[in-house]
Amino acid sequence: TYDYVIVGGGTAGNVLAARLSEDGKNSVLVLEAGGSNEGALVLEVPFLGPTATPNTVFDWNYTVTPQTNLDGRTFPYPRGRVLGGSSSVNYMVHHYGSSEDWDRLARLTGESSWSWNSIKRYIARHERFVPPADNHNTTGQYIPSIHSTTGVLPKSLPGWSNGIDQRIVATTAELASEFPFNEDITTGNVLGITWLQCAIGGGQRSSSATTYLKNAMGRTNLDVLINATVTKLVRTGMSGGRPCFKAVQFANGPQGASTVIRATKEVILSAGAIGTPQILQLSGIGDRAELTSNSIETILNLPSVGKNLSEHTLVPNSWLVQGSESLDNLRRDPAAASAALSEWQANKTGPFTDIGTNMFGFLRLPANASIFETTPDPASGPTAAHWEVLFSNFYASGSAAVPPPNPNGSYITAVAALISPTSRELFSICLHTAMNIIQGGTVKLASNNPFEAPHIDLGLLASEFDRFVLREAIRALKRFFCASPWTDYVISPVGGLAGDADAELDAYVRSIATTVFHPVGTASMSPAHVEWGVVDPHLRLKGAEGVRIVDASVFPFVPNAHTAGPTYLLAERAASLIRGY
Ligand code: FAD
Repeated sequence: TYDYVIVGGGTAGNVLAARLSEDGKNSVLVLEAGGSNEGALVLEVPFLGPTATPNTVFDWNYTVTPQTNLDGRTFPYPRGRVLGGSSSVNYMVHHYGSSEDWDRLARLTGESSWSWNSIKRYIARHERFVPPADNHNTTGQYIPSIHSTTGVLPKSLPGWSNGIDQRIVATTAELASEFPFNEDITTGNVLGITWLQCAIGGGQRSSSATTYLKNAMGRTNLDVLINATVTKLVRTGMSGGRPCFKAVQFANGPQGASTVIRATKEVILSAGAIGTPQILQLSGIGDRAELTSNSIETILNLPSVGKNLSEHTLVPNSWLVQGSESLDNLRRDPAAASAALSEWQANKTGPFTDIGTNMFGFLRLPANASIFETTPDPASGPTAAHWEVLFSNFYASGSAAVPPPNPNGSYITAVAALISPTSRELFSICLHTAMNIIQGGTVKLASNNPFEAPHIDLGLLASEFDRFVLREAIRALKRFFCASPWTDYVISPVGGLAGDADAELDAYVRSIATTVFHPVGTASMSPAHVEWGVVDPHLRLKGAEGVRIVDASVFPFVPNAHTAGPTYLLAERAASLIRGY
């Protein structure tokens, strides 16, 4: 037995492993389905990050179900299956969201300690801001006083200057009212275009495995077992009329023998927004009708398990450009890539220290947008965004894998992402409206076989609001590239981007949209007394004893952020809740 058994050595799981073992008083076991992250170049070199998935040994290799509102398309849906979890395979964008995301969480749960003012203290414990790989002068690119240089995870500004960066900055000056420059979104105000901060230190990826876990590995009170797939939580008795799950069952594969291990204090589920609801359902915790249809006995009827999945829909918009500023060549010319890799290996400098995206931003619909006549504003607050843009210095097609029209062309891609989706059930609950309740995405078992992938339906773009935002985002980006810094650079939009009528833009979006891989909400946090939701504001599984859930699945709303940063802060907060500091 151990005091704590942590299911999943991913982003959040490794924070807990480190924090719960650091005072030496508790014994901790981490069970991770994947293998070690060590020695894998694609997990270390930032520019190669996008090649770590899909369809690799580091990925769960999920595919989404046919998406009704995306022309019935399916596409790969990566999740890290390796120590570090998705922090080992993600694109390393690193920030914490809008202050209003956290304030809404505090309001929704009735627990003020989730508010931004309370949560932001964990930034100091978490991050270690370090100079960028190229050591450039970062004055005006971030606000040092709101960052920490003493936390665990090295992060930095971009380490390789992209030719387009200065054009973007110049456009924020020319079109300041629509695209203001924001010096640093870590203030909690995300609106505007800003320099990207990444989980990169010394030119290398920082994951929860290279930081929290690595620092803790020498401790005798911490054990980490890899290739250990948890197949269910095991009921160990009843406590106060509630089922107690203080043990887990795991195996090293479909043919492997099952082992049960007990936790004297708690089992902590950190298997991520897909793995966590899957394990709960396999354990008889979920929607009774769904469990029964998979021949699983219901121990705890919690209908919200696996529901309310919320995501950022992504539309990669590319323009053909001239000149030699784009990095397309680096992605298609083996000699150029090999030279960049050699430089990275020798000095940890050069384009491979970077993800090729140096600036991004968060933006709102105009206040007088017609959609607000029929839909209440779903943003987390008046300074939170409806959409996001990421400027990539090459052709990018998201996971729809559409090849560039000219394989030798040079491109710029402005990815638009929907930040405040309404295609979800909670939106209606929170606004106390009688609006149509749209279920949102779901994670449902395909069968009671723990080694079979669940059905993942993202339920994207089910509402007119969501489609409206993406149309307006695309139109705004077209205005962005009409500014004078681009006149000698941008040639023409690619493919269906050229259209402008609503129907044309909707068809274009349906044909190429995928996601940013930010699922949340499948084990949502909710006030202790309400029936919907899966965990209480202290992250304890509702209606049960002995289990806490600590990962991205507990966020009821997808934040104004790439979700790793918020997940790290959540895990830091969870550690302090559990240890009582
Ligand atoms: P994870 O980090 O996924 O951890 C879950 C862990 O549990 C994994 O290690 C998994 O193998 C393990 N596990 C699951 N099931 C079991 C089981 N049955 N038994 C044992 N172990 C199990 N976010 C950003 O902030 N910036 C980005 O640039 C970014 N880019 C992304 C790109 C990609 C391709 C992906 C996939 C994600 C990206 N994200 C990004 C999202 C972000 O990485 C995740 O939201 C975050 O890491 C989730 O953390 P987690 O702890 O909830 O889950």
